[in-house]
Amino acid sequence: MKYPLIATALLAASLVGCQANPVSGRQQLVLVSEEQTQASSAQAYTQTLSEAQKQGKLSTDAALNNRVSRITDRLIAEAKLMYPPSRDWQWSVAVIDEPTLNAWCMPGGKMAIYTGIVQKLKLTDDEIAQIMGHEIAHALLGHGRERMSRAIAMQGGMQIGSILAGRDLSILAPVADIALTLPHSRASESEADRYGIELAARAGFDPRAAVRLWEKMDAASGNGPPQFLSTHPAPGNRIQALNALVPQMMPIYEKAR
Ligand SMILES: [Zn+2]
Repeated sequence: MKYPLIATALLAASLVGCQANPVSGRQQLVLVSEEQTQASSAQAYTQTLSEAQKQGKLSTDAALNNRVSRITDRLIAEAKLMYPPSRDWQWSVAVIDEPTLNAWCMPGGKMAIYTGIVQKLKLTDDEIAQIMGHEIAHALLGHGRERMSRAIAMQGGMQIGSILAGRDLSILAPVADIALTLPHSRASESEADRYGIELAARAGFDPRAAVRLWEKMDAASGNGPPQFLSTHPAPGNRIQALNALVPQMMPIYEKAR
């Protein structure tokens, strides 16, 4: 009699509920499958980029595009080692020409960085690597899927059954979009800081730049909080926690550079 119970429990857990993340081990709310998360994110990404293109907001600055790609290529190589299923992701990065202080990485490795954050914060390569490393860490740690699950839970009236059945991706693409605007939890932020700084160190980027990046971000908050901070709420001790990680990251960085 115990087997049917286990089967039912596993089925329920696979559809709705909490799962331990394979990288961090933390329990996460899961209302969509990994496949649904990635497919709907890819759809949302295509839409975002085609709208940016229409408005002439895809950066044509070849030097900046090459600079960003060179940095993210090194991070992606390390991401594939940190979380091997990401070898199958269709990784992609875009530079969006808007004055916004923002950057993101959707589930499945679809990334963007805005010219505003690079220019206004005068980011160095090491600092760009820290922000993109943080974003990639969110993706590797399943935080986008967690945010999508929260977006679905918020849409009480949505047909959760048809979402879970996975038949209608057109319902999920807006959810993937909404998910991108939801704040990550503080627990997610601490995880992304911890794994992001290591990812960047392994790719040969200076861990001390993580501290400088967040100091710059804090300083920029004077004129109203940057968009980035509305989706990445600071764990109160972020800069201290990153500072405390630097000594153990330095040998990894020295070896990799
Ligand atoms: Zn974050």
